[in-house]
Amino acid sequence: ETVKPTNFIHQIIEQDLQEQRHDRVVTRFPPEPNGYLHIGHAKSICLNFGTAVKYAGECNLRFDDTNPEKESQEYIDSIIEDVRWLGFEWAGEVRYTSDYFQQLYDWAVHLIQQGLAYVDHLSAEEMRQYRGTLTEPGKNSPYRERSVEENLALFEQMKSGDLPEGSCSLRAKIDMAAANINLRDPVIYRIRHAHHHQTGNDWCIYPSYDFAHGQSDAIEGVTHSICTLEFEDHRPLYEWLIQNLPVPCVPKQYEFSRLELNYTVTSKRKLKQLVDEQHVSGWNDPRMPTISGLRRRGYTPAAIRQFCDMIGVTRSNGVVDVAMLEAAIREDLDANSPRAMCVLRPLKITLTNYVEGEEEWFELPAHPKDDSLGSRRVSFGRHILIEQEDFEEVAPKKWKRLATGEAVRLRGAYVIRCEEVIKNAEGEVVELLCTYDPATKGANPEGYKANGVIHWVNAERSLPCEVRLYDRLFSVADPEADKTRTFLDYLNPESLVTLTEARAEPGLAAVAAGDKFQFERMGYFCVDSDSRPERLVFNRTVTLRDSWAK
Ligand code: ATP
Ligand code: MG
Ligand code: MG
Repeated sequence: ETVKPTNFIHQIIEQDLQEQRHDRVVTRFPPEPNGYLHIGHAKSICLNFGTAVKYAGECNLRFDDTNPEKESQEYIDSIIEDVRWLGFEWAGEVRYTSDYFQQLYDWAVHLIQQGLAYVDHLSAEEMRQYRGTLTEPGKNSPYRERSVEENLALFEQMKSGDLPEGSCSLRAKIDMAAANINLRDPVIYRIRHAHHHQTGNDWCIYPSYDFAHGQSDAIEGVTHSICTLEFEDHRPLYEWLIQNLPVPCVPKQYEFSRLELNYTVTSKRKLKQLVDEQHVSGWNDPRMPTISGLRRRGYTPAAIRQFCDMIGVTRSNGVVDVAMLEAAIREDLDANSPRAMCVLRPLKITLTNYVEGEEEWFELPAHPKDDSLGSRRVSFGRHILIEQEDFEEVAPKKWKRLATGEAVRLRGAYVIRCEEVIKNAEGEVVELLCTYDPATKGANPEGYKANGVIHWVNAERSLPCEVRLYDRLFSVADPEADKTRTFLDYLNPESLVTLTEARAEPGLAAVAAGDKFQFERMGYFCVDSDSRPERLVFNRTVTLRDSWAK
């Protein structure tokens, strides 16, 4: 693989290595298993795993599983699959924050013993009132000055399961007047009588994100704990906990900006809402910005990694144009996908001078620029199908397709001329009677000109298929801009158009889910998991060109 472009995180790491602060880089990717991974996570995955690869270090996959009610094994399995699919492998076993629950508990006890944590009985609402605001300091809880012994006994009681949820919590004792609100005695343990997907009913108290994260990093020997900018204000707390606990090593937190894409949402909570309310068919609906949705849509791991390289890693927030993501997959598929012909909305043609029952097979290259992809065979006969939009009764100016009385080349076959148009009672064109010119196989017509080249299939030999055309899931660039409405108000009603009459060239009979093609002139397509030999199903991954560009 090529050397990745550098970024500010890499510059920090290079300096750390040079000054021998570490002899090896250890990073981690820490998803919470409360949903499927999305394209934003891909940025974090490429950064964390890519950094480990670049500096011959290690990257752990750690499930940040401290909210059992929202998490599930289904999410864990999907995350593991998606990280691997993107092309990355973690060091050793998959890890779970829950593996460290005993150690984290012991460290909470240690804080109590040092007089640095206390059990509080304020309700969540009272705690909010006591916390103060950005401009006003908070107030100490009346329970703040309990003795160490009392706190130890109460924390033990929290753990024993005797106390109801919300009755008390363990808080770090830092400073209720700190300018940084995260330091105003943050909650580090709360009671949850919930079954946990990894630890079952072993625990009824769970550590907060802030208490669990840095300590888990320290346990794993993480050197550079890379997270997104919303955690910048948590860094003083991260450092306070590391300083005040007997941790085996000192990780440091660095932040970068989240990826945001226009015309979509990248928040698990909102994506889950789209799934739960059935606005999409599931987490892997090809319109979703999830890794599994992109995979089903026909994206490749290489294109997603390439996109992440292109957008880079910085500390400035900005919205990335989804056209960049589309450009990355277009480039990959242009270079690597075999060509085929598929007529999406067929119009019948009978070639009146071609003998009924005769058939010819033409050999065409699978790729115009890459011989290694070999060739394909297409069948020609008296009855063929072309795209409805490739015919106009009266040719507009500069028309490059078929029109009454005019000639056009069928890709890889003959030049045909439209002699007669057959219409139904409603006046719609239902069939064209054409003639073909036998002298134009691999040769230019003599004495006249063909308008252009169009794709086609043999009506009898072609394979019936369903084609799903996707557009952006939202019809506006920022579905969250208007705070008086919800993002659901901007769902694009045309984000999925299903064509049921499409016909593909016969060579596609044996395709498998995930196979990718350029359907000439129509875009890049991949075989959907719904596809069956008797009825193929193709997803359009992306159009040939950016049709949204103004
Ligand atoms: P969401 O808000 O979508 O639930 P999250 O940050 O809560 O995202 P996590 O499962 O905690 O989701 O994320 C795992 C890692 O991926 C974290 O380090 C997080 O910072 C990173 N990450 C999540 N979303 C993005 C994004 N849009 N861009 C870059 N990194 C992200
Ligand atoms: Mg998170
Ligand atoms: Mg989240």
